[in-house]
Amino acid sequence: MSYQQHRRSWAEPYKIKMVELLKMSTLEEREAAIDKAGHNTFLLKSSDVYIDLLTDSGTSAMSDQQWAGMMRGDESYAGSENFYHLEKAVQDFYGYKYVVPTHQGRGAEHILSRILIKPGDIIPGNMYFTTTKLHQELAGGQFADIIIDEAHDPESEHPFKGNVDLGKLEALIKRHGADKIPYICIATAVNMAGGQPISLQNLKELRELTQNHGIPIIHDMTRVAENAYFIREREPGYENVSTAAIVKEICSLTDGATMSAKKDAMVNIGGFLALNDEEVFDKARNMVVIYEGLHTYGGMAGRDMEALAIGIAESVDENHIHARVGQVQYLGDKLMAKGIPVVRPIGGHGVFLDAKKFLPHLSQDVFPSQTLAAEIYLDSGVRTMERGVVSAGRNPDTGEHNYPNLELVRLTIPRRVYTQAHMDVVAESVEEVYLKRDKIHGLRMTYEPKYLRFFQARFERIA
Ligand SMILES: *Cc1c(COP(=O)(O)O)cnc(C)c1O
Repeated sequence: MSYQQHRRSWAEPYKIKMVELLKMSTLEEREAAIDKAGHNTFLLKSSDVYIDLLTDSGTSAMSDQQWAGMMRGDESYAGSENFYHLEKAVQDFYGYKYVVPTHQGRGAEHILSRILIKPGDIIPGNMYFTTTKLHQELAGGQFADIIIDEAHDPESEHPFKGNVDLGKLEALIKRHGADKIPYICIATAVNMAGGQPISLQNLKELRELTQNHGIPIIHDMTRVAENAYFIREREPGYENVSTAAIVKEICSLTDGATMSAKKDAMVNIGGFLALNDEEVFDKARNMVVIYEGLHTYGGMAGRDMEALAIGIAESVDENHIHARVGQVQYLGDKLMAKGIPVVRPIGGHGVFLDAKKFLPHLSQDVFPSQTLAAEIYLDSGVRTMERGVVSAGRNPDTGEHNYPNLELVRLTIPRRVYTQAHMDVVAESVEEVYLKRDKIHGLRMTYEPKYLRFFQARFERIA
């Protein structure tokens, strides 16, 4: 039964053993801080932030079990015991055969892209992710979006907005030939679409199509547990299947995976590349030595691998995932009740404000999402993230801005960190900004870095 259907409230399935005190700030302090940060929430000091919804990446609260695991770190250079625990967790929970640890998700993307992509290749995916796309481009490839059109429409209530449009993929294969497509990158709980899931039915159909053309599927499994939870809630036939079993079924339909363990798996740093193909694994195991570290630690300390092995098991626990996604839904419901435009359905890791609707008087050339994120910070010290034209970057051929359909501000909820009372405070702050939206003008970019500009770009207010 879904959490919406329960008549009784639920509470966080943990109690608090240690607290981290929060700092409140004054409006004057926040004005100074956001000016100094060039109106980019990535450039704020965390000590100037009250409730930090910048990202769910590396921001989870680890459990007492994970902390106990940290004490069992085997920091041997080679063959650390913790590596074998991690390998076993990946095999048991995800079913992939081989694991190459990396410092985080992009480390795995880098290695995979260098091994599989040749200049001129096309890499289709269900919407881009910033670092994934950049590594594909740096390896000489080009990303092609094959997500269903509904994913680009913030108002579509499609239950699986992470689905692939098989027609789009077939057209790509026809145009370029299957040998120009080294693999297809399939994200679960698609981040850039608002944390939207792909259905198992779609994945099975995709599997059949790609197998006919001999094209492997690489799974961006950063949020696979959240995707599996949505399948259990929404896909006919899966009501009584456990989240853990659905996770394994998803993985079984793919040939390998890149993982940012900083999300679903609830560690503060870490990731891996998982593979079934022994030949690709051999290359990856060799290449990781150049860029990350020896193949039994990649970029991670032994203790971090232990915490990750434990976090993988905790991530598919039914009580955990129910409360995790339920808390995001709780915030989404509050905002919708206030009439605030958000991407629907509410995703698995955050609530995405529709900045085009929120600030309809601003064109994308004055960066509505960037502006809105700065305004929310000013109002309350709540930190959010731009996911719009700044994140989309420029077209490498024309040098023009990419103008994405989705112009969003992401309120990302760290796992097991904040309570529902924090969510209430956040919703009230967003409402406050909404009520004075007419008085908000846009921003002008004053500094633009070459790569992943959203991290370090600077802006000033348009008077
Ligand atoms: C975070 C993320 C990545 C990159 O992982 P890092 O650990 O930040 O390097 C890749 N794909 C998706 C979908 C992500 O959310």
